[in-house]
Amino acid sequence: MIALLSAIKQYYRLFERMMTNMALLDANIKAQLNQLLALLEGDLTIQLSVGEDKTSTDMRELVTELATMSSHITVEEATLARTPSFSINKVGSESGVVFAGLPLGHELNSLVLALLQVSGRAPKVDEATAKRIQAITKPIHFETYVSLTCHNCPDVVQALNIMSVLNPNISHTMIEGGAYQDEVKEKDILAVPAVYADGEFFEGGRMSLEDILDKLGAAQDSTGFDEKEAYDVLVVGGGPAGAASAIYSARKGIRTGLVAERFGGQVNDTLSIENIIGTKATEGPAFVASLEAHVTDYPVDIMKNQRVVNVEKNDFVEVTLENGAVLKSKTVILSTGARYRQLGVPGEQQFKNKGVAYCPHCDGPLFKGKDVAVVGGGNSGVEAAIDLAGIVNHVTVLQRSAELKADSVLQTRLRSLPNVTVITNALTEEITGDGTVNGLTYKDAVTGDVHKIALDGVFIQIGLLPNTEFLQGTLALNERNEVIVDAHGATNLPGVFAAGDCTNAAYKQIVISMGSGATAALGAFDYMIRSDVKELVEA
Ligand SMILES: Cc1cc2nc3c(=O)[nH]c(=O)nc-3n(C[C@H](O)[C@H](O)[C@H](O)COP(=O)(O)OP(=O)(O)OC[C@H]3O[C@@H](n4cnc5c(N)ncnc54)[C@H](O)[C@@H]3O)c2cc1C
Repeated sequence: MIALLSAIKQYYRLFERMMTNMALLDANIKAQLNQLLALLEGDLTIQLSVGEDKTSTDMRELVTELATMSSHITVEEATLARTPSFSINKVGSESGVVFAGLPLGHELNSLVLALLQVSGRAPKVDEATAKRIQAITKPIHFETYVSLTCHNCPDVVQALNIMSVLNPNISHTMIEGGAYQDEVKEKDILAVPAVYADGEFFEGGRMSLEDILDKLGAAQDSTGFDEKEAYDVLVVGGGPAGAASAIYSARKGIRTGLVAERFGGQVNDTLSIENIIGTKATEGPAFVASLEAHVTDYPVDIMKNQRVVNVEKNDFVEVTLENGAVLKSKTVILSTGARYRQLGVPGEQQFKNKGVAYCPHCDGPLFKGKDVAVVGGGNSGVEAAIDLAGIVNHVTVLQRSAELKADSVLQTRLRSLPNVTVITNALTEEITGDGTVNGLTYKDAVTGDVHKIALDGVFIQIGLLPNTEFLQGTLALNERNEVIVDAHGATNLPGVFAAGDCTNAAYKQIVISMGSGATAALGAFDYMIRSDVKELVEA
């Protein structure tokens, strides 16, 4: 399955480019789909509910095409809750997986995975997560509104499809916003993915399977974790830093574990990456797939979808998971990365997914022709503003201090754009709205005057927060709550090392995180061979 996912993700970029340039499937994509559909494990019925509109015609063409590629697929006409839509079922049972609108673009992976999983291929989830899903007894119907350019949406769609496949109490419909604009308008959806459970808004934005289960209050199961033997190195975090740490450790021939909430970390949310030295250009999901393939080449015990809630130094370093299990290791490398910083003003939470957004790549197209603001004048804010200026009517960039902080080349580009206004000394006070965002108020830091701007959306781009809350009081953090490390990646707690965006590294980038992951792994190895052997053996 890992190889399969890796193959799917390698095709991701190609799929995306092709899907945007053509009507439906061309020869290359068909050839690739043919290979993937050869992996179907059982007979499927696709129930097709279509009318006379263009999307219906395209949907019929897509589904018919799929059926010609595999003798396992049969198509039957049906009347489903939405038209156009289609459901994917194993013959003789209902999976609850429905696609309303065309699952092309970023969602083509979701379609392929759904076909494979409904056919009987085991979804890529660990046993503990599968048990949590199967333990849900209350019937829940999820609906996820997506756009085909949203790179956060497939994770959510695929997580909910997996839940549907593993638990007959759960069903899930992906709804492509473009085909269901009336619903999008009626629900005031201005950011995707937007997930509804039994008709009520459930959550918006990027979510892992673990996040969904946590929000549902699904019980955690620690079976199998407590019995694990102590590790030589246990890596906490599965982003670039964690992956590098695990590979460097495992290559020393020592017992290595990796526990992560979301393998790949922030890279999952990145579209174009052009600064990984030696790789001229790649995309986040493809890069995550290659990271995972590389780590799994080594004997690393990977525990995905697991959150660490405590780290304690006793004889071993003890790492407590949210499911209650305690993992022991001679050394630990913390590589828990960072997340989007919230603005913390009134209206931000209230209008999340109703005009407040964090991901211009995902949500920019939803503001086509509208007026938006970008809060934050650093590199990410100015990059977002340049990106949005090509889509929306007007962008206002608000920067707290007297000058933008972005690289001068970006500032020059920004100021050359006719539909961008930059306001400096602007202290955002409130995001206002009436159902959805209608404006923003800011105070001029120099004059104290309060101004209001009429807007349809606000993109918040004010940096990242280190994921170190669970380390407060355990080891030394700096004033930004970053783990303080020395040149060997060592923290002030013996045997505990750290790497990547969660540390006080001056810059937060993929190659920098990888380099520091390698440093921390070598530092941990050095620590072990220099420590009192007797102490470690006895520990
Ligand atoms: C939108 C966007 C675009 C970017 N573009 C680029 C780019 O083009 N080039 C570039 O070099 N950099 C880019 N970056 C920055 C780059 O992604 C980060 O610097 C890099 O991912 C940091 O790697 P990391 O391993 O330190 O942390 P992360 O990638 O944040 O990974 C952290 C890991 O720790 C896990 N974790 C967190 N808390 C816990 C916990 N309590 N228990 C268990 N696991 C936990 C997470 O699930 C994840 O697996 C971008 C970032 C973003 C958000």
